[in-house]
Order: sequence, then C-alpha cells, then structure tokens
Amino acid sequence: MKSILDIVSLSTAEIDQLMQTAMDIIANPAKYSNACRGKKLATLFFEPSTRTRLSFEAAMLDLGGSVIGFSSANSSSAAKGESMADTAKVISCYADIMAIRHFKEGAPLVASLNSSVPVINGGDGGHCHPTQTLADLLTIYREHGRLDNLTVGICGDLKYGRTVHSLINALARYNNVKVVLISPVELAIPDYVKHEVLNKKGMQYVETTSIEEYMDQLDVLYMTRIQQERFPDPNEYLRLKDSYILTPQKIACAKSTMTILHPLPRVNEISVKVDDDPRACYFKQVFNGKVMRMALILKLLEHPYEKPSLFEEGSEYVVNEIKCTNPNCITSTEQELDHVFKVVNKQHGVCRCVYCEKQGK
Ligand code: ASP
Repeated sequence: MKSILDIVSLSTAEIDQLMQTAMDIIANPAKYSNACRGKKLATLFFEPSTRTRLSFEAAMLDLGGSVIGFSSANSSSAAKGESMADTAKVISCYADIMAIRHFKEGAPLVASLNSSVPVINGGDGGHCHPTQTLADLLTIYREHGRLDNLTVGICGDLKYGRTVHSLINALARYNNVKVVLISPVELAIPDYVKHEVLNKKGMQYVETTSIEEYMDQLDVLYMTRIQQERFPDPNEYLRLKDSYILTPQKIACAKSTMTILHPLPRVNEISVKVDDDPRACYFKQVFNGKVMRMALILKLLEHPYEKPSLFEEGSEYVVNEIKCTNPNCITSTEQELDHVFKVVNKQHGVCRCVYCEKQGK
C-alpha cells in the first residue's frame, strides 16, 4: 500500500471505504482487537502533539499491534543532524508502518521516498494534515449524514492552519459544498490552495473577516487556533491572537443543526461556555480521529508497500533550475535534496515546489 502524504493520496472511494470501516469498528470493536497482532507502528514526532500521536498509538493498540517511537526532535538522532531520508531507512528496519509529524513542510514526502513501509503524514509545518481531515470528515458524516450539500465556515488562521488546507482539499470533491473562509486578511488562505484547489475544482467560496456575517447559513463551523509557532514576527501573533472568540451569543442565530468542529488544541477561540451546547462536536471529533486512524492503519497494512514517485506521469517538472525560497520547506535544511518544481500553469509560467507547494520564482 502507499503512503498518505495529504488527503489527495486517497480517492473519494477510499475515503468512503475508510468511513465504512470506521463505522464498523465503532459498532463491533471486538472484531478488530487482534487485526494487527504482530505489527508495529512507529510514531516519529519532531513537533509537539497530544491527539495525533496518542490517537495513532491508541489506534494501533486497539488493533492488537504495538507501538515504538519518540515524541520530540531532541530525543531522536535528528538532534545529531541525521537526515529525514536516513531516519526513514532506519525506522523501516524496525516498524511495519510509521506516522511522522515534522516542522518542515515536505518532510513526510522525503521519508516516504526513502522508506520501505507506509508513511503517514501526521502534520508537516503549515502545509497539511490528512488524518485530521479524516477525523473531520467522519464527524461531519456522523453528525449530518452526508458530505454533500453543506455550507462550511472555516474560521481563524487559514494561512498557517494545515488542517484547513487538507480539509478544503477533501471538501472540494463533494457536491455542492460551499466554503465561507473567515480570517483576518493577514491570515487568509494561501495562494496555492486558492489556485490549485478552490479555483481549479470550481468550488464555491467567499472570504470574509466577519464571523457573524454568514453564521445563520452555516451547517458546519470549523474553528481553528491562531498558529503562534509559525509566525515569523511574535508581535504579529500578539496583534492577531484574539481575532475570533466563539461565544454562546455569537451562535445564537446559527442553525440548530449547525455543528462546531475544532481540530484542537483550543487556546481561547471557543469559550468553554460553548462546550455544553449540543452543537459542539470537537470532543466527538477526537474520538472519530482515533477510529479513522484505526481504519487507515488496517488499510495500509493490507498490501505490500508501493514507494511513491516525485514525478507524476503526464506532468512537467523543473529540476534544480530554481531553488525553493520557503524557509519552512524541508529543502531549506536537507541540502542533498533536489529542488523539484511541478509546472502547474505553463502559460503563466507557474510552478510549485513538490515538497511544500509554494510557488517557485
Ligand atoms: N492539532 C492541529 C495540528 O496539529 C491543530 C493545531 O495545532 O492548531 O495542526
């Protein structure tokens, strides 16, 4: 089976199948309690995490498998300067599957090119976070009974919020899903999501700075944390950190069926007074994340590993002619990597780094 680097690594049929497996796991947990007996999951977390790491580990344990790993860059050989490629080759000797979280965008892709077991991206910098999206989709599906015909408000840090980028990528494949993008202008959705996903897929969207403006039309409100750790300027964070705080008053005019999601951790963007509202689903979302990760591990261990390729058939690439200038891209620290750009719009000369998706210049 392949690696899961972003949500686009999974087809809509595969996502449907994962949700069906997850529903069956919820209904019949005992049926799965030995499904991964003898298999090992490695969790390689170079950045802080509570839910993603522990839910991967709980998922593997609930499947009867076992878990090895580390939870910070300082406790691994990365602190001695080991490359992502070498780390992936080493871990492949110990584990049957690995989940990686890294502060550098594209690190899981580098790992998957060098691993001989499936790699799951548990969040790479401000880029993407596909397994959070699986949790989000299952939550929406369980609460609304559908993934089509929805108006989804996404509020907060749309620039650095990696869960937002993967979620939009997933929602773009369902019918009649409209997104309302609510953020300060400084934290608006990145260009590549706008051009390569929203515009390319013809998705309906509006951008606003007001959380109130579309509140009464939303089926889902997806709140996010302002991502302090990604701000180059700490003063900019201090200025923007309290941009949105959801309170019972703010949702008074919302539909009674609207669901409130949040990938967590919450800082202060949802008042705890909202927690008892039946529309608050963020703790259910945590549970759904574990079951979707169980379904994903099962699926990835079903078949032998197929290594991905940097180059998709039918696409054009520019190699080592320009350099990626994104300081958060894995190419900024791993000097031996080729600078590879995919040409996404030949007419306008637009190409994007295959690791971080930022535009090459
Ligand atoms: N837990 C999510 C992530 O790792 C959301 C967040 O940190 O704000 O991206």
